[in-house]
Amino acid sequence: ENSGLMKAGPRQAEFMPTEGKTVKFSDVHGVDEAKEELKDVVAFLKDPTAFATLGGKLPKGVLLTGHPGTGKTLLARAVAGEAGVPFFFASGSDFEEVYVGVGAKRVRDLFAAARKKEPAIIFIDELDAVGGKRSSRDQQYMKQTLNQLLVEMDGFMQSEGVIVIAATNFPESLDSALVRPGRFDRHIAVPLPDIRGRVQILNHHMKGVTCSPDVDPTILARGTPGFSGADLHNMINQAAIQASKERATHVTLKHFEWAKDRIVMGAERKSTFIEHEDKLLTAYHEGGHALVALYTDGAMPLHKVTCVPRGHALGVTSQLPKNDRFSVSLKEYKAEIDVCMGGRVAEELIYGRDYLTSGASSDIRAATSTASSMVKSWGMSDKVGPVYYNDRDPISPVRKQEIEDEIRNLLQQGEARVVALLTEKKEELHKLAHALVEYETLNADEVRKVIKGEPIRNITEILQ
Ligand code: ADP
Repeated sequence: ENSGLMKAGPRQAEFMPTEGKTVKFSDVHGVDEAKEELKDVVAFLKDPTAFATLGGKLPKGVLLTGHPGTGKTLLARAVAGEAGVPFFFASGSDFEEVYVGVGAKRVRDLFAAARKKEPAIIFIDELDAVGGKRSSRDQQYMKQTLNQLLVEMDGFMQSEGVIVIAATNFPESLDSALVRPGRFDRHIAVPLPDIRGRVQILNHHMKGVTCSPDVDPTILARGTPGFSGADLHNMINQAAIQASKERATHVTLKHFEWAKDRIVMGAERKSTFIEHEDKLLTAYHEGGHALVALYTDGAMPLHKVTCVPRGHALGVTSQLPKNDRFSVSLKEYKAEIDVCMGGRVAEELIYGRDYLTSGASSDIRAATSTASSMVKSWGMSDKVGPVYYNDRDPISPVRKQEIEDEIRNLLQQGEARVVALLTEKKEELHKLAHALVEYETLNADEVRKVIKGEPIRNITEILQ
């Protein structure tokens, strides 16, 4: 007879592959780049030995980063589904332990279970719960769990056919040991969907829902900037439930509006619904960066610009280096500073100084860091001269002042150039910002057309 006295904590179930409907890449929408990047993981899992023989190199660990509900779990399941291999799910918070050593044992069990079924995928949601750099009381326990994870990841050979995919919304908070080569050394961003992605996600999840003719996914997508795939799915479900409560024959636009409001106002506030005014402000900010990138000699070519949030950023302007940059000239560094200034200057130009926001702080940090290196490391200031300064060696107060003045000069000169440029191009800035609000993501070609007032692909065409 078991008196129960011998039991050490709750018994935990063995790790088993996730059952249920097979997920395919075609079930995940609005994240084409992430899917593209995961294709070789699928190829590898289909035939690990062949892949290794052909000399293919693959990471053991892939880190998916992005807001909650953007489809990271779904993507990982799709990789398993496409490759036809078992999927082992664990959440970082499962390893938060009450008893010493339990978390580490769970990690061991997880890997052992997956190895028995290889090729296989292990998915660890909320990796930051195990591998965060936080300093809490139970840090010591979590350290053991983390160490066990590192041991397991180092312990298997690539040819073994186990791939670990993990997800986090806070990649910068991970312990640096986790992201070293041979561990989670490939990072793939899973962004919030833009308007086109939202239409696709809505269409996908609205299959099988009986809607009235007034329900148009394009209009729903327009009204839900900032929503994740999970928010959209949730909105459809809530609308359908509300319709059935009212014994309606169809789910109508009204039901969708009701469901959207519930999610936007929701107690949890997990979603990132973006108000129109905020979206417009971000559009001017990013539009400013983009125009400066377009018109400044020496700036890296504009790639695309978006006012959909990513990571901590409210919007992103991305540029593409022309070719591998071995050395960068003074002109190019100045252009880099100017592009950084573009966002803040645009805000001030449109809204006035009193309405400046703190949204430009990372731009200012980036510009300052470039200017500082120009003065202290690269000998690009005439006043300071070709001298290298580091922060460890003592330095006279006079010199220090001179360096600081030069850094500030570089930044203020950049700001002045950008004020002149954007004042001249103000009409183009307006056009670009409004197009960004409508389309959310524009590539460089589209930006060029929009500012000339030329038509770009019609919104309904884009949304097909
Ligand atoms: P995450 O792991 O990023 O938090 P999930 O993959 O758990 O997000 O998403 C939860 C649900 O939301 C999915 O099961 C799916 O129904 C829906 N969903 C989220 N993102 C997408 C997407 N990109 N395409 C289609 N459906 C999505």
